[in-house]
Amino acid sequence: MSLLVVGTVAFDSVETPYGKEEMVVGGSAMYIGYSASYFVQDIKMVSIIGDDFSEGELNSMEDKGMNLDGIEKVKGGKSFFWAGKYHDDFNGRDTLVTDLNVLADFDPVLPQHYKDSKYIMLGNLTPDIQISVLDQLNDKPDLVMLDTMNFWINNTPDDLRKVLKRIDILTINDEEARMLSGEHALARAAAKIQAMGPYYIVIKRGEHGALLFYNDKTFFAPALLLQTLIDPTGAGDCFAGGFIGYLAKTQNLSFENMKRAIIHGSALASFCVEDFSNWNIKRLSLDQIDQRVNRFYDLTQFSLV
Ligand code: AMP
Repeated sequence: MSLLVVGTVAFDSVETPYGKEEMVVGGSAMYIGYSASYFVQDIKMVSIIGDDFSEGELNSMEDKGMNLDGIEKVKGGKSFFWAGKYHDDFNGRDTLVTDLNVLADFDPVLPQHYKDSKYIMLGNLTPDIQISVLDQLNDKPDLVMLDTMNFWINNTPDDLRKVLKRIDILTINDEEARMLSGEHALARAAAKIQAMGPYYIVIKRGEHGALLFYNDKTFFAPALLLQTLIDPTGAGDCFAGGFIGYLAKTQNLSFENMKRAIIHGSALASFCVEDFSNWNIKRLSLDQIDQRVNRFYDLTQFSLV
């Protein structure tokens, strides 16, 4: 099953309580692509970069099964750049810089062989680009999942509302769910966001795990208690990539399978935070992922008698 991923491929400068890294590879699509690559062989990437992006990084993405025909390279252009600094608790962060650079004028044109994709991951990026990608598909896909953040909720609220009407699953963090809905209680926030379009809402809560809402059903997945926490950047994207990658692999969109997808997404996110950039998530084995999924299972099992 092929998965189309749209999002940023970028440079990040990140400061966490553990340390600091300047101009490392980042971007929502990059993180999603790597984490989905452990479940799906055929990943079609849509993004834009400048000619400052290293060929070596692009080759590593191709080696993991990502097709880069949909990544536009702008001669003389600069790639999207984001800088952030995490608070002492690692959970909160301040965005210091968002330089759209080549993203500002991106008008994606999907290669022909992308247009029949059935699983679509609209990673964090300008909502009008997310809409344009949906408009270019030949048929209605099986599943459209979208991730967004405060930057787009604040800067492009109307376009975001438009794209929300066309998706099945929204992943969003708790603070942003409150911002988007105007509700503090997460159950009410999820209900309000559901009324905006998506059937399923996944609320990410960092070290407090993730919640899945579908009509009156709710599921909670904890986060693992990790010994090593270095850089949370990309955790949300890795979660999304693991989640939709697992769904695309299993092709089962039941609520029960969504629960398994949440656990697989959480497992990929847990690897992401153990190092800066893509350094950990590009070198995983399927065995390591299985072992981590089993740790989630052990963490949540109990008997009523
Ligand atoms: P996450 O920690 O999951 O929110 O993802 C962080 C990644 O998203 C970083 O690698 C950034 O390059 C990228 N990013 C930051 N801000 C934006 C934005 N406004 N739109 C798209 N991608 C972004």
